[in-house]
Amino acid sequence: MSYLLVEHADVLVTMNQGRSEIIDGALLVENNIIINIDTSDEMQKYLHQHNINPDEIINSKGTVVLPGLINCHHHLYQTLTRTLGTAGGLSLFDWLKTLYPIWGQMDAESVYTSAKLGLIELILSGATTVADHLYLFPNGSRLDDEIAAAQELGVRFHPTRGSMSLGESKGGLPPDNICDTEEHILQDSQRVIETFHDAEDFSMCRIGLAPCSPFSVTADLMKQSAEMARSYKVVNLHTHLAETIDENRFCLEKFGKRPLEYMESLNWLGDDVWFAHMVHPDDDELKKLAHSCTGVCHCPSSNMILASGIAPIRQMVDAHIRVGLGVDGSASNDGNQMLGEARQAMLLQRVGWPGFESSAGRFSAREALELATLGGAEVLNRKDIGSLEVGKAADFVAFRIDDLHHAGGQSDKVASLLSCAPTGVWLSVINGSIIVQNGELLNVDIENLIIKHNQLAHKMLVKAGVA
Ligand SMILES: [Zn+2]
Repeated sequence: MSYLLVEHADVLVTMNQGRSEIIDGALLVENNIIINIDTSDEMQKYLHQHNINPDEIINSKGTVVLPGLINCHHHLYQTLTRTLGTAGGLSLFDWLKTLYPIWGQMDAESVYTSAKLGLIELILSGATTVADHLYLFPNGSRLDDEIAAAQELGVRFHPTRGSMSLGESKGGLPPDNICDTEEHILQDSQRVIETFHDAEDFSMCRIGLAPCSPFSVTADLMKQSAEMARSYKVVNLHTHLAETIDENRFCLEKFGKRPLEYMESLNWLGDDVWFAHMVHPDDDELKKLAHSCTGVCHCPSSNMILASGIAPIRQMVDAHIRVGLGVDGSASNDGNQMLGEARQAMLLQRVGWPGFESSAGRFSAREALELATLGGAEVLNRKDIGSLEVGKAADFVAFRIDDLHHAGGQSDKVASLLSCAPTGVWLSVINGSIIVQNGELLNVDIENLIIKHNQLAHKMLVKAGVA
């Protein structure tokens, strides 16, 4: 039995049902589970009564402690191609067509290295759980390669086995040579579920199935993926949907249906499904999402950088739709900064819906932090993470608010995390293990990883003939 005590947090944000915030908060962990949460004074009494001497005590004075942030949508491999498509201001379809041939040069080593680098950046920005969407597997690369990186770092991981089967010759968007046969996609999906999927509470690895988008897979693959996922326990379904006006037009032209209607026809609505984006739903689609308990992952930076539009997250939250937050691929965000993404969500909703006359309707910092914590847990169908409560997984982070960036923002320390410039974590604990302490990621040689990552990225550009 091992005990970790974190005490004297200026504010401890629980995200429990009453959204309690504890001043001078403390949290006690036994192995990987939270066993008490209270003020630091009350915690001392508890330790005394139960005769517990913590193995490690962390004084978190000068910080705000939060549930670990949850990233619900990402393409870690895209860290290899940051800036390439975004510098020129391309929109989604042109951005994809520029990058597809370069991504076709990836291999197992580049998938592993980019996943490790991207995950480190995420962890240092507050993420403790990450869902990734890997949907092309050129040159022998596999989902296994990114899972290895996540396991080494100790981050809670939801890799989704993505796929593309509808190449240009069949009316899809991607080039044929990076698409796969549906037979192999389904075989490999089954293999990764049976090899890596852990459906139990406190699981560190849950597989999802994620055909890439309506414009890169067939209807048949969507249906078969759903059937396969539902034959296992908590294998969830994920895809991109209604990201741009172009996509809405593509679906209407090709299927005679709007994107959500198309997904409904494939039996792809439900509490085991979450869609990235949903930037352009109409009122009926919002009702359908709420009624079917289908989840949405909001990716504000990506939507801004690709000029996709502003997702109506204010309306979705008000309609009790399950909404989480994602940084999206590192090539359509160019960053893996999870706290920064929560700030973007708050800012974009304020810009998007200025019509709310009273400030009461405006998206608050706390609502944005809720998307990044509890919202993400709901979207990933996890009851064991997302809030700091007795019996939940010990996944939490602390951000310093006594530093340069927050000076003068002490009147609301929680809101200052997003209203002031986002910073890196001071402490990160995942599943009871200290991963970041004093702002340093323990036991990882980041400098050499960056060098290796940049060499691999350059090699891909040379092979693709663009460098
Ligand atoms: Zn994406």
